[in-house]
Amino acid sequence: GKYVLTFEEADPDDVKLIGGKASSLVLMTRLGLPVPPGIIITTRACREYYDRGEKLPEGLMDEVIRGVKYLEEKTGYKLGDPDKPLLVSVRSGAAVSMPGMMDTVLNVGLNDKTVYGLAKRINNEHGAYDAYRRFLAMFGRIVLGIPEEEFNKPLDEIKRKYGVKEDPEIPLEGLKELVEIYKQIFIRRFGKVFDDPWEQLKLSIEAVFKSWNSPRARFYREANKITPEIADCTATAIVTMVFGNADWRSATGVVFSRDPATGENKLYGEYLPYAQGEDVVAGIRTPKPIEKLKEEMPEVYEQLYNGVKLIEKTKKEVQDVEFTIEKGKLWFLQTRNAKMNPLAVLKTRVDMYKEGMITKEEAIMGVKPEYILQMLYPRIDESKAGKPLTKGIAASPGAVSGQAVFDPDRAVEWSKTGKQVILVREETKPDDVHGFYASVGVLTSRGGATSHAAVVARAIGRPAVVGAEALQIDYGTRIARVGDTVIKEGDWITIDGFTGSVYLGKVPTIEPKLPPEFFEFLDMADSVSVFEIRANADTPDDATISRRFGAKGIGLLRTERMFRAPGRLDLFRKVILSDNPGERRELLDQLAEMMKKDFLEIFEIMEGYPITVRLFDPPLHEFLPNFEELVTEVTRARTLGKPDPEKERLLARVKALMEANPMMGHRGVRVGITYPEIYAAQVKAILSAALELKRRGKHLEIQIMIPQVAEVRELEIIINNVVKPTAEEVFKAYGDSIEFKIGTMMETVRSCLTADKIAKVVDFMSFGTNDLTQAVFSFSRDDVENKFMSKYLELGVLPYDPFVTIDEEGVAKLMKVAIDAARSVKPDIEIGICGEHGGDPDSIKILAKVVGRGLNYFSASPYRVPVARLVAAQESL
Ligand code: ADP
Ligand code: MG
Ligand code: MG
Repeated sequence: GKYVLTFEEADPDDVKLIGGKASSLVLMTRLGLPVPPGIIITTRACREYYDRGEKLPEGLMDEVIRGVKYLEEKTGYKLGDPDKPLLVSVRSGAAVSMPGMMDTVLNVGLNDKTVYGLAKRINNEHGAYDAYRRFLAMFGRIVLGIPEEEFNKPLDEIKRKYGVKEDPEIPLEGLKELVEIYKQIFIRRFGKVFDDPWEQLKLSIEAVFKSWNSPRARFYREANKITPEIADCTATAIVTMVFGNADWRSATGVVFSRDPATGENKLYGEYLPYAQGEDVVAGIRTPKPIEKLKEEMPEVYEQLYNGVKLIEKTKKEVQDVEFTIEKGKLWFLQTRNAKMNPLAVLKTRVDMYKEGMITKEEAIMGVKPEYILQMLYPRIDESKAGKPLTKGIAASPGAVSGQAVFDPDRAVEWSKTGKQVILVREETKPDDVHGFYASVGVLTSRGGATSHAAVVARAIGRPAVVGAEALQIDYGTRIARVGDTVIKEGDWITIDGFTGSVYLGKVPTIEPKLPPEFFEFLDMADSVSVFEIRANADTPDDATISRRFGAKGIGLLRTERMFRAPGRLDLFRKVILSDNPGERRELLDQLAEMMKKDFLEIFEIMEGYPITVRLFDPPLHEFLPNFEELVTEVTRARTLGKPDPEKERLLARVKALMEANPMMGHRGVRVGITYPEIYAAQVKAILSAALELKRRGKHLEIQIMIPQVAEVRELEIIINNVVKPTAEEVFKAYGDSIEFKIGTMMETVRSCLTADKIAKVVDFMSFGTNDLTQAVFSFSRDDVENKFMSKYLELGVLPYDPFVTIDEEGVAKLMKVAIDAARSVKPDIEIGICGEHGGDPDSIKILAKVVGRGLNYFSASPYRVPVARLVAAQESL
């Protein structure tokens, strides 16, 4: 028909036309499972109903009449027949599941006469009247719009009157009284009892149509972004009733084909004897665990088990199945893909693959990247959390509690005494990083999703909330305020990096436990991936986590913190401030010896994997004493009449080194060219560490990376005048040598445009997409968040923040240009990406599309390695 299909006629795959619920009934019918006969009014009818201003489409009821005739022939029952009445449910169901958002009417067709026919059929007058009183209440509520309390109150009164607690205990007289009371409600309001089964059916269909547009359904669609393209109107299934309340060998229940909380492969569910429909979910009586059914009705259990498993095998997804048992006979009433805990989804995919039910590809595609992220971080226990104090930007996921501390040194001090602290700052800078490591989380009042605090927190796996603007911090008094609320140093706070919420006090969190399947699953992903995943790791801790999470090497080892460590910063300052190369070299020798120890530790952890060490990158001035403070000191000394020549000289030198635009200034390879001793010291430390480990039988793959290159000559000078001679020196000193690679970071526009020239002189290239994005847009990555990015996103000037997800039309395209140029002269050159984007699922997708196999690897922050492994594998399929 135009609007109505039988279960036998419908195509289960045409979910848009017949809705998910009906599709599941059609599928189960085809699989030969016991499903009560039914017909489907398609979504098209509902659409027309709305297009015609809420009028049933012409000819719809004629088709329904024909459909009902078909059901009558199939079942031997007849709508309205007092002796053998056909009773049906009228069920809503759109293309996507909208649980509990739309309406269903059960037991349609009951009246004072047909109730006796039902009593005869199930041989139980009590069960028949139980169905009748349910019908009146449901029809009254859903179709006639009468408030639920008007039916619940008399129900409670009757129970009290007969001294019973649970519905099935109400004696037959009680049910009959209830039916009379309910009919009186109808008469009072409408002057009639709606006892014509055809009228009941028609009004129920219309009510189902209307439920598509109920406020809660509309809200749900909006919240879940269900557009008309995804689901347009509800279908309506008219299904022959079966009775879980026919007697005590009858029941209704819900069962999952596997445990939705753990993924364990066993039936999981509940059932309720002498009950109908939604009693199980509604929680009016305590249901029995499904295992009990195995004891009470072993054959039914067996049939249920086999049926559920058959559907699971067909759909290749864990199923959530509604069933009813009428006098010991099982009926399937609905199935859908189960909603599961992320952990259970992952375990299930691995298990199904091992069981041979799905292919490796299906297993890998079946886990959403978000699930991996969600599994890794502790979460706020929502049931125990109160109202948040304030909100900021959710910058780095995870939830933690700690004592508020307002400066990084104190964070270190406190953490040494075993305290758990959260670093609270207006904003952070590179000098604060030791405070990050000492803290369990970071909270800032300024900055956005790619502010320093956010980037570092993500990189080292600390939960962070940034840009909580309501927070007013007074460093002097060590107090922060949100409105009238005061946070003193040492007060406990909790931050939720999933939502950006900040709570006062300790809010309980839940720790994730990673099952073996987590690692097994990611190994499966690697086995199909054409991309490798490495990690951005600067410390032994980072390296250990990276290995545990399956990184295949370090794609970026930043060396800056090796200059900032305690005892070293002063030495390094002297280097920068000295204008005597000899003195510089001597100081740097001492530094090299210290840095060698750092490298030894990390290299050992990463034995057997490539380790890409980036030589000194930041602007030099970041390592100098604070200019304003110096000026104050010098001025004070002068006013006191005791000028300090030492300080004066320092001030002059600091002033000379100051730059208007440090991020585009004296940094990276430019420092290498002007202070070759610095790079030489680093190369010396790296290669000495490598050779010492080699002596201990360790195999190392060292890659030395030179940042900020714009012109191939820069590279040639560093390679020929610094790296190679230093290597020769070290090799001679150790009486041994080691092979290593030399490469460059691609992060200037010019390096990309001249990549063919550059490729000729290097072994590898790695895109530093943070700086490259800054260069391509001419947006300062350190300021953009606070100034205009939010407005840009709000107005749609940019579709997303290019510092979070790689800019497809500009940056990715430039990378493609560079990669093509590089590979045209050196087809097998190793090319990777090590910016923040390397661990961002959307960026991996974009890059897989734009440059594909042009890239060999993505390097991600340690905690983003697992998700990167999954996305890279999914993009390889
Ligand atoms: P929902 O989408 O809210 O789950 P359903 O249409 O699935 O609504 O129906 C509500 C309840 O009634 C479910 O428990 C379902 O199993 C039960 N039910 C629906 N149709 C029938 C029927 N023909 N016979 C017995 N129970 C039914
Ligand atoms: Mg249902
Ligand atoms: Mg950079």
